[in-house]
Amino acid sequence: MTKRKNPFAASWTYEPAPESTDHIQIKKKYDLFINGEFIKPQNNKYFETVNPANDEKIAEVALAESEDVNKAVKAARNAFKGWSALEPKERGKYIYRIARLIQERAREFAVIESLDGGKPIRESRDIDIPLAANHFFYYAGWADKLEYAFPNRKAKPLGVAGQIIPWNFPLLMAAWKLAPALATGNTVVLKPAETTPLTALKLAEIIRDSGIPKGVVNIITGAGKTGAEIVNHPDIDKISFTGSTAVGKYIQKAVAGTPKKITLELGGKSANIIFEDAAIDQAVNGVIDAIFFNQGHVCCAGSRLFIQESVADTVIQKLKDRMSTLIVGDPLDKNTDIGAINSKRQLKTIENYIKIGINEGGEIYQTDCKLPKKGNWCAPTLFLNLSQSHKIVQEEIFGPVLAIQTFRTIDEVVEKANNTPYGLAAGVWTQKGAKIFYLTQKLKAGVIWANTFNKFDATSPFGGYKESGFGREGGLHGLKPYVKFE
Ligand code: NAP
Ligand code: MG
Repeated sequence: MTKRKNPFAASWTYEPAPESTDHIQIKKKYDLFINGEFIKPQNNKYFETVNPANDEKIAEVALAESEDVNKAVKAARNAFKGWSALEPKERGKYIYRIARLIQERAREFAVIESLDGGKPIRESRDIDIPLAANHFFYYAGWADKLEYAFPNRKAKPLGVAGQIIPWNFPLLMAAWKLAPALATGNTVVLKPAETTPLTALKLAEIIRDSGIPKGVVNIITGAGKTGAEIVNHPDIDKISFTGSTAVGKYIQKAVAGTPKKITLELGGKSANIIFEDAAIDQAVNGVIDAIFFNQGHVCCAGSRLFIQESVADTVIQKLKDRMSTLIVGDPLDKNTDIGAINSKRQLKTIENYIKIGINEGGEIYQTDCKLPKKGNWCAPTLFLNLSQSHKIVQEEIFGPVLAIQTFRTIDEVVEKANNTPYGLAAGVWTQKGAKIFYLTQKLKAGVIWANTFNKFDATSPFGGYKESGFGREGGLHGLKPYVKFE
C-alpha cells in the first residue's frame, strides 16, 4: 500500500487502512419488519439509501405508507397482551439475547453504519455499536427489577410505543428507544431515518433470530410522512421522538388533546467553557472531540466554545494546530477522524450557515484540506469575532462548525451560555471543583460534563430542557417514560 501524505499537516504521513467489506451482507432490497417477518409494502414502493461518501446507491428500502403503519400497529397491539404478561425475567432473557447478538455481529454492524451514514469506522466500531449492545444489556437487567426502580408503586407498561429516530446515531438511537420500552413490557413500532435505515434493518434480523414473540418489535422504513402516520395513529399509546426541534414541535401539537404520552429528544447548541485554570491541552482535545465527533452531527455537540480572555490566544492557536492534523476522508479508513456529511441536504444546510457566518462578519478558519471529489464533505471549521446575536451562535448547524466567543467572568459566561432557546448539554474545563459545582447549578442544560465531553453510558440519563425537549433516556430515569402507575 502506498504511503499517503496527510493532506493537512505537512510533517507526517499515514498508511491508508480501509476496513474490509468482505462478508458484510447487505441485501439489494429490504422489506418491512412486521409481526416477526419481512413483508413487502402494500403499494410496493421502495426508496434508495446511498453511501454519502460516494453518492452510490447501497440498497432499496421499503416505503411504509398508511396501510403498512396500520399493519405494524396492529401487530404490536396483538402482541402486547402476551408480552406484558410474560414473566419479567423471561422478557429480560430476550433482551439479553439481542445484546449478545449485536456483540457477535459487531463488525458487520460497524461497517454498515459507516457505509450508510458516513461516520468514521473508528467511531462506529468503538462507540456506537458497543454502546448499543450495552444499552440492551443494561435494560435487560431492569426487566425483573422494576419494583426496585419504583419502590412501593406498581409500574405497568403503557401499551404500543411509536418510536422515531434520526440519522446521526442510527443503531444507538434504536437501542436507546427499544431497550427500555421492551424491559418495561411495551411493544413497539420503530422508524429509522430515511438516509440511514440499514442498521435498524440488520437489528430487525437479529430481533427475529432472538425468538422474541412476533409483533413485539416492528421496524418500518420510510420518510417523514411515515413518521407522521405513526404519530397520528389512534391506537398508539406513546410517542418517543428524537430529532429536530421543528419536527418535535409539530409532534407535540399533533398529540395535544389525545391520551398519548410523549417524550422529545431534540436539538441543541451546547456551550463548552474553558477557564484560565484549565489543563489547556486536555481542554483543546476535548473541544475537538466535542465539535468534530461524528462530523458534528451530534445533538449535544459542543458547538459554542467560550474561552476565558486571558488564555484565548493560546487556546485558539492550539485548536488550529490540532485541527490541522485531523484527517477528513473515507469513513471506512481507520485513520479517518472526520467522515462524510450524512446527506446532500445536510451539507447544503451546513454550507449555508458557513455563508451566513461570513456575511454577518465572523472570521472563518478552515483547515487547508483536499476533500474527496465524490460524496459530501465539509472541512473542519471555526469562527471567531462573534457575538451573541450572530445566527451561527444561536442556531443549531449540526456539522463540523465551531462558534468561538470569549468571556472575562464566570457570571458573564453563565449569562452567555444560557442565552439560547436550547438546553441540552454543556462542558466545563477547570481545575477548580468549586467552579464546577457552581456551574452545574447555574447552567440550564440536561447534561453537564466536567473536564470531558460527549461521554455516554447506558446507566446515565440523557435529555434536555427548554427547546431541547423533555423526558430522559438512559439510566433508571429512562424507564419512567414507558410506565404508568396503578
Ligand atoms: P428530523 O428531520 O426531525 O427527523 C428525525 C426523524 O423524524 C426522522 O426519522 C424523520 O424521518 C422523522 N420525521 C420527519 N418529519 C416528521 C414528521 N412530520 N412526523 C414524524 N416524524 C418525522 O431530524 P434529523 O434531521 O433526522 O436529525 C437531526 C436532529 O435531531 C438535530 O436537531 C439533532 O439535534 C436532533 N437529535 C437530538 C438528539 C437528542 O437526544 N436530543 C439525538 C440525536 C439527534 P426521515 O429522516 O425519514 O425524514
Ligand atoms: Mg444512507
